[in-house]
Amino acid sequence: MIILVINTGSSSLKYQLLEMEHETVLAVGVVERIGERKALVTHKGHPGLDQEKTFEQEQAVMDHRAGLHLVLDLIVDAERGVLTSTGEIDAVGHRVVQGGESFQQTRLINNQVMAAIRDCNPLAPLHNPANLVGIEVAAHLLPDVPQAAVFDTEFHQSMPPAAFLYPLPYSYYKDLAVRRYGFHGTSHKYVFGQAAAEMDRLPAQTNAITLHLGNGCSMAAVKNGKCIDTSMGMTPLAGLMMGTRSGDIDPAIIFHLAAEKGLGVDHISDLLNKESGLKGICGSNDMRDIRRQAAAGQARATLALEMFAYRIKKYIGAYCAVLGRVDTLVFTAGIGENDCQAREDICMGLEGLGIEIDPELNRKLQNRHGPVHRKTSRVQIRVVPTNEELQIARETKALLTRG
Ligand code: AMP
Repeated sequence: MIILVINTGSSSLKYQLLEMEHETVLAVGVVERIGERKALVTHKGHPGLDQEKTFEQEQAVMDHRAGLHLVLDLIVDAERGVLTSTGEIDAVGHRVVQGGESFQQTRLINNQVMAAIRDCNPLAPLHNPANLVGIEVAAHLLPDVPQAAVFDTEFHQSMPPAAFLYPLPYSYYKDLAVRRYGFHGTSHKYVFGQAAAEMDRLPAQTNAITLHLGNGCSMAAVKNGKCIDTSMGMTPLAGLMMGTRSGDIDPAIIFHLAAEKGLGVDHISDLLNKESGLKGICGSNDMRDIRRQAAAGQARATLALEMFAYRIKKYIGAYCAVLGRVDTLVFTAGIGENDCQAREDICMGLEGLGIEIDPELNRKLQNRHGPVHRKTSRVQIRVVPTNEELQIARETKALLTRG
């Protein structure tokens, strides 16, 4: 079975073509700056997916339809193509950011599903409309191929009301769907599944805290294979301190900023989403730069790193409390996979919770993959590289196989 995974943003289209019997990536790429005369197309095709075979070109790509057309042409290109015809594609799996309460699992796309995704647009106005465009162009260019929607929110739909409701007047939940949804669900689900498999445990009998630490950061508490709480909220702004997002703050700060500085809602939204987090404290949102700055003695960089780890520690404590028993802590994404110092800073001092990182093993971890805990640690600590595209392809395959 061959599955094309598509992740459409407002001006980009990322894709992966996977052969599912051996879960091999046949092609991978991205079209960026869609809508501009100098869009950038980057495409790697099998065999090897190596750098030398990367096709990179600037060209006009006026809309997403032109972008996907180009991608399909590259996939069947006589020279660098990996398929002889697009007829070999068995299904398309689309990443959709917000599925609201309508979608607890991956769904085959039809008009009704499209309408329900559209209904979720107000909850994710920057993402869902772009995802819908991706679905529409794929359905147009590959009309006979089944299309599936895999939602970033679906893994978190198992949260109980006590975890997903905000203590606001209940009518805001009923009338405006104001509640915690959580995001990065595909990543949390994937790394949880991989960790359980590596531990040789049944997912349904495994409790975990998963930490997706990239430019966006979120955590999930997973009990017996089901998410019971997560740090992002109605939007991805909530929870942990991130690259440029504040994460949790006192909501009254917003009124204070409005009153004292006369800032409007859009301005404050930009401030909290784009100018806060690590960047707000030390001026950079790139962990590698921040580490260099801290090593060079810049106090704000050191402070940003301390705040980042401290806030994660507090969430680990909270999730230990709600889970009761934790079998494993799973680190993933750019920082979680690569920054051994962050993992050490986060886990140090948590021995009382049965979490004992092995600093040497953690530092020496090769291939960004494997356990990093001491033998005596009650809770296993693992690094698992995330693979959202593969998870989307697996969900799509499972849906088609179920029929
Ligand atoms: P992501 O959003 O998953 O791509 O992660 C982006 C974040 O990961 C940025 O803050 C990067 O600085 C960070 N990152 C990537 N590679 C490394 C590395 N080798 N060491 C530390 N941080 C890294």
